[in-house]
Amino acid sequence: AKNEGPGRLKLFDASMQQTARERLDLEHQLREAMRSGQLSLHYQPKYSIATRQLVGAEALLRWKHPQRGMISPGRFIPVAEDSGLIVPIGTWALNEVARQCKRWSDAGLEYGRVSVNVSGLQFVRHDFVGTVKRAVRAASIPPERLELELTETIVMGEVEQAIVRLSALRSLGVRVSVDDFGTGYSSLAYLQKLPVDVLKIDRSFVQELDREGLPAEQARSLAQAITFLGHQLGLDVLAEGVETPTQLEQLANVGCDEVQGYLFGKPMPPDAFERHVRES
Ligand code: C2E
Ligand code: CA
Ligand code: CA
Ligand code: CA
Repeated sequence: AKNEGPGRLKLFDASMQQTARERLDLEHQLREAMRSGQLSLHYQPKYSIATRQLVGAEALLRWKHPQRGMISPGRFIPVAEDSGLIVPIGTWALNEVARQCKRWSDAGLEYGRVSVNVSGLQFVRHDFVGTVKRAVRAASIPPERLELELTETIVMGEVEQAIVRLSALRSLGVRVSVDDFGTGYSSLAYLQKLPVDVLKIDRSFVQELDREGLPAEQARSLAQAITFLGHQLGLDVLAEGVETPTQLEQLANVGCDEVQGYLFGKPMPPDAFERHVRES
């Protein structure tokens, strides 16, 4: 029709070019960020529901741009993935977490285990297990301190290969959790074969728990089913994104083991996490 003529097309083109340019800019800036130490890790506490004790933390990437301020992972992780930069960034994160564990161990802090998110691009590299092994050795920490978070989509990808790789990681003594569980496709037959330790229930389900009526009931059934499944397979079940006492109560009722979320603590810099642990 008339309004889909060349004028409109041009406009569309221009905005696409702008988006592409912005991404390229962000990519350049991300390279610079790595070089000049603008990236850091924040740590979010995880708690056992039964004992109320701290069981560990999740390390989350933060980027503080000198002019633009904080840029959220939701913006820069996709750019890092598309450009492949997530591989060196991920390796840095792995090593930084291991070094942080060492510092906390030396300081006598009882911090439990620390998990680090792993991109699919890192996981499929033939040297990934070696990279993890070197990080643990270089920092001289017990491998049990380290946990790797891999999304359901990653582990359910090349499943046979994933099983081999996960077994190798677990032989090192490192723990593995399946992140964002329930948002991707899982084959139950494969889930049973996956050598992992933890299922993390995605925040999207947790959020539904304190709605009214049917949505809440459905969310509750889902949380219950995931918890049951996890326990049948001998796994721990952790719920992420817990923000309200109602959500916590529901999760406790269905037998979920561990929780993480703003209700207990936001992701924080290492020194703040240390204070948080000493005060709790
Ligand atoms: P994720 O692995 O699912 O991490 C949980 C996200 O939920 C984090 O967002 C965390 O700050 C946020 N969160 C935790 N508790 C609550 C809560 O109670 N309420 C709400 N509304 N949000 C909560 P963040 O830090 O922005 O990270 C977003 C995503 O970026 C992560 O999702 C993960 O997929 C990715 N990411 C972060 N750090 C890394 C990393 O080092 N490597 C890789 N590959 N990905 C990372
Ligand atoms: Ca995660
Ligand atoms: Ca998650
Ligand atoms: Ca999530």
